[in-house]
Amino acid sequence: MSNITPMMKQYLEIKEQYKDAILFFRLGDFYEMFFEDALVASKILEIALTGKSYGAEERAPMCGVPFHSAENYIQKLIHAGKKVAICEQVEDPKLVKGIVKREVVKIITPGTNVNDNTLEGYQDSYLMCIDFDQKFKAAYIDVTTGEINVTSIENDALLDFVTQIQPKEILFHQNFLIGAQHNKSLQKEFRIIQSSYTTTMLDDYFDGAARAHLAEHINAELEEYLPVLNMILGYIQQTQGIVANNITRVNIAKRNNFLRLDPNTKKNLELTENATTRQKKNTLFDILDYSVTSVGKRTLRKWIDNPLNDVQKINERLDLVEELNLSFDLRSDLKELFDEIYDMERITGKMSYGNLSTRDAVALRSSLFVLPSIIKRINDSQSPCLKNLIKSMDDLSDIHQYLLDAVVDEPSVSIKDGEVIRSEYNENLKEYRFLEKNSAAVLQQIETNARERLGVKSLKVGYNKVFGYYFEITHTASREATIPSDFIRKQTLSNAERYINQELKEMEDKILGARQKIFEIQSEIFDEIKNVLSRNILRINQTAEQIGIIDALLSLSIASIERNMVRPKFNNKRVFEIEASRHPVIENILGEDHFVPNDIMVNQNSRIQIITGPNMGGKSTYMRQAAIIAIMAHMGSFVTAKSANLPVLDAIFTRVGASDDLSLGQSTFMVEMKEVSHIIKNATENSLIILDEVGRGTSTFDGMSIAWALIEYFSEKINSTTLFSTHYHEITELENLHDNIQNFYIAVNEDGNDIRFLHKIMKGKMDKSYGIHVANIAGIPAEILSRANEKLKLLEKNELISPQFFETRQTDTNRAPVAEESTISASDNKSSKQMSFEDYSSKEILERLDSLDMDDVSPRAAFQILEELQRIAKERIL
Ligand code: ATP
Repeated sequence: MSNITPMMKQYLEIKEQYKDAILFFRLGDFYEMFFEDALVASKILEIALTGKSYGAEERAPMCGVPFHSAENYIQKLIHAGKKVAICEQVEDPKLVKGIVKREVVKIITPGTNVNDNTLEGYQDSYLMCIDFDQKFKAAYIDVTTGEINVTSIENDALLDFVTQIQPKEILFHQNFLIGAQHNKSLQKEFRIIQSSYTTTMLDDYFDGAARAHLAEHINAELEEYLPVLNMILGYIQQTQGIVANNITRVNIAKRNNFLRLDPNTKKNLELTENATTRQKKNTLFDILDYSVTSVGKRTLRKWIDNPLNDVQKINERLDLVEELNLSFDLRSDLKELFDEIYDMERITGKMSYGNLSTRDAVALRSSLFVLPSIIKRINDSQSPCLKNLIKSMDDLSDIHQYLLDAVVDEPSVSIKDGEVIRSEYNENLKEYRFLEKNSAAVLQQIETNARERLGVKSLKVGYNKVFGYYFEITHTASREATIPSDFIRKQTLSNAERYINQELKEMEDKILGARQKIFEIQSEIFDEIKNVLSRNILRINQTAEQIGIIDALLSLSIASIERNMVRPKFNNKRVFEIEASRHPVIENILGEDHFVPNDIMVNQNSRIQIITGPNMGGKSTYMRQAAIIAIMAHMGSFVTAKSANLPVLDAIFTRVGASDDLSLGQSTFMVEMKEVSHIIKNATENSLIILDEVGRGTSTFDGMSIAWALIEYFSEKINSTTLFSTHYHEITELENLHDNIQNFYIAVNEDGNDIRFLHKIMKGKMDKSYGIHVANIAGIPAEILSRANEKLKLLEKNELISPQFFETRQTDTNRAPVAEESTISASDNKSSKQMSFEDYSSKEILERLDSLDMDDVSPRAAFQILEELQRIAKERIL
């Protein structure tokens, strides 16, 4: 290896320190990648893989991207879950003999990616840091907006927490493992990149970073989070070479202040992300989002994710929405004004990482321009709550004026090649621009002035490369004129003398250096602008936050009008009275006229509702509708109903749908039971629980038994509002056994073969599921449907499965006739048919068992007899 070229030696030494990143190694106008990095990157970036000799027998795999277009390639690698270390030449190659010194100046990671141009305005991009000190402590920051949060997490809730926040990257100590299974799931399912820090790094980077940067915000409550804040800010410093100064406040995220919605519930209810597409379309967010600004969209999304649980705060928001509802003009004026507002938070984010472009400055200026109009429009309105909301809003007019004075209307992207700063803003700049554009005229003027001064009409101003600008006076003229003392002779020609003076010299410097000077002055002023703006980030972000709130309220107001929604009321009697409610997303998909509204009524007698009805009847829709309407109400939104009165809840839990978690090695049923177990442990009487066909993933008897026992438990022990849909019709019997359980069903109109699902919820039960009908609609072949119908008839006639059920399929010509009557008495044991004990007294059962000829009973029938006996025994013991 001693033959390795010096450049490659340098590469290998640097690469050794950045093993987990793709190293962009600067060579002239390219960033080159070598070895494994090149193999990986060339595939992701779809660029040619070449090779480079470096002193070893084989060539090093190599690929490269041009320096000037590197950003797109970097983003592509980051989105593929990689980190990129940028290694620059830190010496001028012209001044160095041999190898130029190179250093990594920046590491771009998924969580510190400030230039992510694929990020939608409403999306967050969190970097999270987790520490353990008796409890888990986490800090998570959106580097693009400066929003930073800290929280403590119970030990068994860590995975839930992480999946809820969905950070792009998690940072933890290298000795600390979240757990092999969890790691797998985080990486595979949520594509969260994990980074680790070591104690050595801690010494280097994490030395009081938080304390220094957050000095203003640190209070006693935050003290316990200092270590984790230090780590996260230290990591930013280490990767970006700078610590952001756009952190306006550290939020302590307290779960108690919000309606609890665990990740499963959010996922099941498709609040902000569609479960299939993982996109915004067909979500509650999609339905409610009429906001205009990015910061408004983010605010609205956070409100959906974190509904309130304090009735006063909820009503305050509702009051604001209601005020906006009263004035069409106010709504449309605000909408128009908000249209001018760019993403001010992300602009301050760019500022704080030194990436503010001239275009960003103009975008900020345009945003600031409309602020006073927004404030005035609200103050002129008849909306006391809104006026109160903006009472202390900073209109930032001083910053607007500053940007207006300093920056031209349409600045060029590059400071080097075009106009960015107004000429009027700086005397020197004005002069240089004037010079640049009018150098000929200026020289003409100097020439005229000198002619007059010396009285020499033939005096000329000339220029050559060696001496620069000069006054030229012929010998004849010189003899007659008095040469002023400030004229310095520069050159004598055969027929003339050449002079310079201070004025001409200065002019020469100015003209020749004008372009360079313009660049320097513009750069200097733009740096100063950046500094001024940086010092005002806190103010800008506070105003942006307020704009976000008003825009989110405006969005809720427009949604309530467009979607025919009503203001919810709250009661403390644990009563739901939601009249003609609609599922907002399904209604939107089907069209307003096609959705059948349903009442959702819950009181102490119907605290637990068992919902039966046909497949595809609308059971899930009805239950989700209840949860979604509750969430809308708690976030301060109007709701999709004719009227709504509901209690303030502490949590909503859902168990909906079936999914394997193969990455965690868990079956459908296991996942289901785990989720139910989580609900049982956490629900209270103030919770709303949605259980959609729990118990379906196992054998009928197991499932039915579990469903029965669960409902009993919810009825007796938790008494939470529970909506339970099921196809186990037997369970409806529970209504007769418990005061707080009531049956509901989804109505069907059956007229001969014409079956219509009415999607209407009614009191009572239904003991048919119409599964075969739905299978028919789904296109299952008629032959299978007819056979299924035969089997269904047999099953419907018997409590227990008859032996005929197990008969093999007959061909059409010799198929045995289907038994009309298959329930037989126990005394028919000779006939190998199944017996049912349901209607017998215990004594009669014993007598019949006694008369059973055991040699004539098949093992399967024996087992079924035993199972039936056990069920009857259990019921009778109760
Ligand atoms: P399964 O028992 O098969 O899970 P389900 O009873 O839970 O079915 P849903 O999934 O709620 O049925 O609804 C099935 C479809 O019926 C919905 O996608 C929707 O198209 C339609 N639907 C449900 N409720 C209504 C309603 N109230 N008005 C109009 N259409 C509805």
